[in-house]
Amino acid sequence: MRAFTYERARTPAAAAAAVAANKGAKFIAGGTNLLDLMKLEIETPTHLVDVQDLGLDRIEETKDGGLRIGTLVSNTALASDRRVRKDYGVLTRAIVAGASGQLRNKATTGGNLLQRTRCPYFYDTNQACNKRRPGSGCAAIGGVNRQLGVIGTSDACIATHPSDMAVALRVLDASVETVDAGGKTRSIPVAEFHRLPGDTPHVENALQPGELITAVTLPAPIGGSHFYHKVRDRASYAFALVSVAAVLKADGSGRVAFGGVAPKPWRVEAADAQLPAGAGAAARAAFAGARPTHENAFKITLAERTLAALIAENRA
Ligand SMILES: Cc1cc2nc3c(=O)[nH]c(=O)nc-3n(C[C@H](O)[C@H](O)[C@H](O)COP(=O)(O)OP(=O)(O)OC[C@H]3O[C@@H](n4cnc5c(N)ncnc54)[C@H](O)[C@@H]3O)c2cc1C
Ligand code: SF4
Repeated sequence: MRAFTYERARTPAAAAAAVAANKGAKFIAGGTNLLDLMKLEIETPTHLVDVQDLGLDRIEETKDGGLRIGTLVSNTALASDRRVRKDYGVLTRAIVAGASGQLRNKATTGGNLLQRTRCPYFYDTNQACNKRRPGSGCAAIGGVNRQLGVIGTSDACIATHPSDMAVALRVLDASVETVDAGGKTRSIPVAEFHRLPGDTPHVENALQPGELITAVTLPAPIGGSHFYHKVRDRASYAFALVSVAAVLKADGSGRVAFGGVAPKPWRVEAADAQLPAGAGAAARAAFAGARPTHENAFKITLAERTLAALIAENRA
């Protein structure tokens, strides 16, 4: 690990200003992803701005009947919150499907959204990777890519976004609140937060340099039955091959988003409209234009079958 300096910011705007003023600076929250990347020297920040003292660790009700989740709320606290378990069950289910109890105690809401891909070539600094080193190529394309993306990918990068929580936030139409170095705030729909790779796979989200996530907001509860099914190579402690988050009504209508298949949580509203017609129709709409590799085309079938199982569960 390279040497770095460290400070604990006192206000959100001061934290944003500290990172904006120093090109080598990064925020640190739970540290469960960033420190691993620093040990491998994939990330080499020269200064860390710790955001744990900013008072952003509460879940509050909003005027619109939704919830505002401070960025420092741990994954454990969020998944176990009484209001989340009652009205946003898909979120609780997605979070507990991820990582381990110890990791969820440290992992935060903002850090989870910003965790980086688990593409094995990204972690191997001997391999070409446009995300890690722009312009160096992509060893995964033509390499071992069974776990990588089938849609939303590009000729520069086929990595998937690894977060389970983000897939649930996408199906719930959540928004990300931020503050910049000048104290200016904005709200970004989760739908627009993560970027597709195009020819700049290292640009992963809509944040400007130094912009700090302060909270994630959930709209008022939408009712329905909440599901999160995660398919992986072993029963626990593994990232998704495919995951499906859905909120379904008794008449079969609803919303669906997929994880493990794309560089961002994958939701296509045209697929929601097809849910009453069944999993096949919804999956065809969701995966229209997919570009799987010979190793990972099974993910499209797997996604459809996982959705079919969950629709059957809703009917039962
Ligand atoms: C062994 C292992 C297994 C895992 N399994 C899963 C899994 O199955 N599913 C899953 O979804 N996740 C999994 N994870 C990932 C885990 O969920 C993330 O590491 C965690 O959510 C990151 O949160 P953090 O607070 O520790 O982020 P950090 O590591 O502190 O930060 C991550 C990134 O976010 C930035 N950041 C943090 N907070 C802010 C903020 N407020 N504003 C702007 N930038 C910020 C940091 O600068 C950094 O770039 C696993 C992790 C490990 C180590
Ligand atoms: S798929 Fe993306 S993250 Fe993986 S090696 Fe290629 S450029 Fe890097």
